[in-house]
Amino acid sequence: MRAWALLAAVFALLAIIAGFEIAAYAGAFGRVVWHVDTKDKVLFLTFDDGPSENTRAVLDILRENGVKATFFVVGKQAATHPDAVRAILKEGHGLGVHSMTHPWLWKNASEEIVLSKMLTENIAGSKVSLFRPPHGFMTPFVALEAEENNLTVVMWNVFPYDYKRGADEIISKVEEKIKPGSIIVLHDGPGNRSEMIEALPRIIAIAKSRNYSFGLLEDYLRD
Ligand SMILES: [Zn+2]
Repeated sequence: MRAWALLAAVFALLAIIAGFEIAAYAGAFGRVVWHVDTKDKVLFLTFDDGPSENTRAVLDILRENGVKATFFVVGKQAATHPDAVRAILKEGHGLGVHSMTHPWLWKNASEEIVLSKMLTENIAGSKVSLFRPPHGFMTPFVALEAEENNLTVVMWNVFPYDYKRGADEIISKVEEKIKPGSIIVLHDGPGNRSEMIEALPRIIAIAKSRNYSFGLLEDYLRD
């Protein structure tokens, strides 16, 4: 068991290294999307770990700015805030799953993925096709489970650590990293997200001033 865990860790590390180099690749990890392969000046905003008491504020900012995003929801949060899940869809955003309880998926990958998909689809009343593993942690088992459930694995290439940085720093990290097809991760989970909420409209304004628009992953990831 320990040897397996070590092997899985090595594979996960290799996947992270390889993932930053190439957008999508096939192999032991199936298809993993790190950015959208496009020359269009389009960015993809994603929000992880919600929904929570912070989601409404995020949705309001997105609506005020005419911007769409994709929310990777945690099952137990979706169960606590089902209205927020429905609001995400009703307001034209994308929905993906991010496990039931946000563990490192060393084990219980099947249960975590299948249950979060079932629960979220049940609340939303529509199918979910995107999955982001908690902590971006992949193993061949996670990849297999995602594939068996018809879920495309979506990672990111802009991660400004919004949950532990001030608004100015979040903004400068995003500004520095964005390029056509970038997938940006922010977090709308429970707790104090005031820095992210302050940064969000300014990120959108900066991106628009650089002639970027914001797209929905599902529109670009159809094969
Ligand atoms: Zn997460």
